[in-house]
Amino acid sequence: MPATSARLKLPAVRISSRGAARLKSGHVWVYRSDIVAADSVAPGSIVNVTDQRGKPLGTALYSSSSQIAIRMISSGPVPDFSALLRQRIADAIAYRDRIVRDTNAYRVIFSEGDFLPGLIVDRYNDILSLQILTQAMNASLIREIVISELTRRQNPAAIVERVDPRVRELEDLPPNASGLRSGDKTATIFTMNGVQFHYDALEGQKTGAFLDQRENYAAAAQYAHGEALDVFCYQGGFALHLAPRCSQVTGVDSSRPALEVADQNATLNRELAGRREIEWIEANAFDLLKDYAASNRCYDTIALDPPAFAKTRRDVDSALRGYKELNLRALKMLRPGGVLITCSCSYHVSQAAFLDMLTAAALDAHRTVRLVEVRGQARDHPVLLNVPETAYLKCVISSVS
Ligand code: SAH
Repeated sequence: MPATSARLKLPAVRISSRGAARLKSGHVWVYRSDIVAADSVAPGSIVNVTDQRGKPLGTALYSSSSQIAIRMISSGPVPDFSALLRQRIADAIAYRDRIVRDTNAYRVIFSEGDFLPGLIVDRYNDILSLQILTQAMNASLIREIVISELTRRQNPAAIVERVDPRVRELEDLPPNASGLRSGDKTATIFTMNGVQFHYDALEGQKTGAFLDQRENYAAAAQYAHGEALDVFCYQGGFALHLAPRCSQVTGVDSSRPALEVADQNATLNRELAGRREIEWIEANAFDLLKDYAASNRCYDTIALDPPAFAKTRRDVDSALRGYKELNLRALKMLRPGGVLITCSCSYHVSQAAFLDMLTAAALDAHRTVRLVEVRGQARDHPVLLNVPETAYLKCVISSVS
């Protein structure tokens, strides 16, 4: 039964005792290996979940192809999914109204974190960027409700869908192109923490900017001083925030298009930085740090924000080696009293493992590291205590002597 016929009797999916125990612990996913029976359940259906003996455990969205077969939407019955969807969108928006400050760019809906599994919506000033990650959320009625509710409540100039072809393949969904879903505007300027950024909805990585770092930029800026290096700078998120506090800022990234936007962003914010230029270098960060360390370059502030090195659990060891190499080199290059801002967006690398890596790097570099702030993702990316997968970003700010 498609997700749109929620008022009718829902199909049932029976899960194993291990799956049931997972739900009882407060998690919201059941893996395919814990599905006992899902006879003739259509892809993307809304389903009643039961234990082995048929006892009801709640209502979920079903995927016929993902390893995450069940994503719970309620621990009870859901007589009208459309009404629930509208209510959850309203709740997500109200939550942001209470907790988000100093920005017109933030995550409006964060999938499981807002009890809307498979749906991500980001706001960039007057443009909303939408991502649909599951079969159920892809149903045309669901899309219509999402778009009409967002339009009614946020009145954006445009809504743009960003499509990740890999996700659609995993969900066994037909290919779909990124593009406008309402309105006709695809570029705007947004402001966070008083810093302005260009946004082009159909270019760039992720949904356009790294909104999850928003509060970390402001935190890092408090301690930044002297000569600063922003490694993996993308469109200049850290560099632009550090610039007003620093005598000189260099940003490094391997992507030329990202650096071109970074430079345009620097122009937008020149007054903030006392009209100082930021230097942008296109390079492989590993090679550049190696060369700089070999030639005894020194900095007072270094930000390290690499892409996710561990995309799966199997990559964790090699990811930690990569993080250690970067952090070791950065620590060696910092002047006494220097500030290291070091990040990992790999969910599979835990905060504890990341801090262990930093401890080992500090020992090897013969440096003393004092933790100033141990941070995570911005609060508009809410973490559900019982769903550890909702917490993925680590940002450690330390003072190095
Ligand atoms: N700090 C940025 C986000 C960084 S995302 C912000 O706050 O907006 C990771 C960035 O690393 C991307 O821009 C990507 O182009 C870059 N990157 C990936 N591999 C790289 C490498 N080996 N050397 C330099 N940059 C790299």
